[in-house]
Amino acid sequence: MDILIVEDEPEIARIIQLALEKEGFSCRVSRDGLSALQAFQEQQPDLIILDLMLPGLDGLEVCARIRQKPGSKDPYILMLTARGEEIDRVIGLSTGADDYLVKPFSPRELVARVRALLRRSLRQAGQHQIYRTQHFTVNVDQHTACRQISPSQAESLELTTLEFNLLTTFISYPGRVWNRNQLIDKLWGDDFFGDERVVDTHVARLRKKIEPDPANPTFIKTVVGVGYKFEDSAA
Ligand code: CA
Repeated sequence: MDILIVEDEPEIARIIQLALEKEGFSCRVSRDGLSALQAFQEQQPDLIILDLMLPGLDGLEVCARIRQKPGSKDPYILMLTARGEEIDRVIGLSTGADDYLVKPFSPRELVARVRALLRRSLRQAGQHQIYRTQHFTVNVDQHTACRQISPSQAESLELTTLEFNLLTTFISYPGRVWNRNQLIDKLWGDDFFGDERVVDTHVARLRKKIEPDPANPTFIKTVVGVGYKFEDSAA
């Protein structure tokens, strides 16, 4: 379990880090909002301890940006706030944080909150909807997708929400032939207005990201006169 600690006060950051490392978690510390976002991209932590008042981007902004990142791992976020108005801001707004802790807190209290969140995470992981084929793994709840490059190496795919949903649709019915209207129903539902050829655009973009040679696709095949189908031998 990887934890990212975002806290600009070195002493508090250190207390948190020591308490969590003692419990066997691996931690990394960022001191401001921008470097937190960078650390989030690099580390893909399971949980983020995020101070509300930070230099540069504040905790709310960092939280919002992390929640908006398509295709990224969705970490649990525990927000740290000072007493007073800040608490009202955190509770009153829908911040995207999973829990909050008011300063000052004891290391024991912090560890208990972290454990509670991660238990939630593990419980949900047991129910995760995961699709696997020979080359792909899609985790619907975590919104992650990766491609096996070799038997020992996988790369995570950076997909937009639409591309992710398209891949999930394909991978959930390998071999099924889809026409464009069926894919539009799956991706946009009744909200769709426009040209059904928009499907081709998104298929082309997805191919660029998942096919070794997008001009000669091996996974998403064109079925002439109908639409598309996904093929990959089951693991
Ligand atoms: Ca602070």
